[in-house]
Amino acid sequence: MFAKTLGAGIVGLNGVLLTIEVDIANGLPGMDIVGLPDAAVRESKERVKAAIRNAGFDFPYQRITVNLAPADLKKDGSGLDLPIAIGILTASGQLGKADLSQVVLVGELSLDAKVRGIAGVLPMTVMCRQEGIGKIIMPVENLAEGNAVDEVQIAAVDSLQLTVGILQGISSGLDNPEARVLASGIKPLDDFKDVQGQFAAKRALEIAAAGGHNIMMTGPPGAGKTMLARRIPSILPPMTREEAVEVSKIYSVAGLLGPLNGLMKERPFRSPHHTVSAAAMAGGGRFARPGEVTLAHHGVLFLDELPEFSRSVLEVLRQPIEDGQVTVARVSSSYTYPSRFMLVISKNPCPCGYFGDSLQQCTCSEMEIRRYLRKISGPLLDRIDLHINVPRLKYEEMVSNRHTESSEEISGRVGQARIRQALRLVGTGIFCNAQMNHRQIKEKCEILTDAQLLLQSAFEKMKLNARSYDRIIKVSQTIADLDGQKKISFSHMAEAIQLRIAIFENGK
Ligand SMILES: [Zn+2]
Repeated sequence: MFAKTLGAGIVGLNGVLLTIEVDIANGLPGMDIVGLPDAAVRESKERVKAAIRNAGFDFPYQRITVNLAPADLKKDGSGLDLPIAIGILTASGQLGKADLSQVVLVGELSLDAKVRGIAGVLPMTVMCRQEGIGKIIMPVENLAEGNAVDEVQIAAVDSLQLTVGILQGISSGLDNPEARVLASGIKPLDDFKDVQGQFAAKRALEIAAAGGHNIMMTGPPGAGKTMLARRIPSILPPMTREEAVEVSKIYSVAGLLGPLNGLMKERPFRSPHHTVSAAAMAGGGRFARPGEVTLAHHGVLFLDELPEFSRSVLEVLRQPIEDGQVTVARVSSSYTYPSRFMLVISKNPCPCGYFGDSLQQCTCSEMEIRRYLRKISGPLLDRIDLHINVPRLKYEEMVSNRHTESSEEISGRVGQARIRQALRLVGTGIFCNAQMNHRQIKEKCEILTDAQLLLQSAFEKMKLNARSYDRIIKVSQTIADLDGQKKISFSHMAEAIQLRIAIFENGK
């Protein structure tokens, strides 16, 4: 007897339709899975066998051949358990006359026939819509992400028995009302109003958020660099639906969406520890999962204590910062993942942390300081648009009752500036100033003559390279946008240059 079911796999960030053919014939009892299965799929044999028995069905004592198609595509993960099991039940005549041609099945089976959640269900559901397949049966744990896709009927299951019941038309899928309630609520983000003082740093972060620029904060321990960085998502503009779908697909494939999340509502904030490996940063490994640079897509990648990161990890950042994507090599193939993020870096001014501090003496030798700063490569420094010093709060600042703005007030201005950018960049495929290339800067940025002269003299005096030149113009454009001005004036340019030159003061 022969049966055919539909399953789904993942290539890069996209779902692909798989066909599972099951043939049961007389011969030496046993089960073979062919069609480039990986180890996890091969292990499926034992799970499927136990699950079928423990669900109260018969496991055929015959020769079973399972063929996964298309044959040239490597199949990984455990999500094929369910379509394989249903294929065996159909081919052995235990399912009755169910129509399996218009339903995709995904899910891992446990030995006692429970259906467990898997990674990548969101892109798999998107694939169903694209392929014109109207129905998908998925683990109830993944229901929230499946629900994010319109036009596909979803049945959520927690067991093999329930899956059979649904296919026979005698049961309906489970609901997870909890998933719906929680997915619609957004947890409050940390707010800038809780950060005393640090007005210069906040201004720089507002500019960075408004234009999507990379920023580096230098200051002693306890100055509040991490506190400031964590609040950046609270002033970034909300994600468009298109951005939210893209980010959610990444988290789904990485298995990080969680049982209660549908579409991601907030921009990602990733803060990998400095012991992170180059593979975890870039992505890859056995299953070619997205790395930190991709998990930060459309959000913030925060590297706390930058000089502590290994050089090979920092090297990985170059391609994403330059191209907005990262190529992950696997044994047989390579994937390109999106990775367009705002890079936020913090570092101490020296190994002990107190160089230039007003209260505590630095104990480092000149040599140690130089070695410490040399860890950050020139090419990486070059790609940071804004450099600011975050000193420790003075007593007057701590007790001052100067109005501390809330994130809502700041994000209002950021939003206005982003709208100006979007209008100016319409039709270019990019959305903020930081993403402009050299040609787009020439076309889109209007610089008044005195601002032009200022830039020219800074360029000569500070021996800037062409990359710095472009980056200063982009930042000055963002400052003009925040100011509600069309053209870049002297004061916009002066502030942009000031925010760039801390790089030299920091002893590059
Ligand atoms: Zn020191």
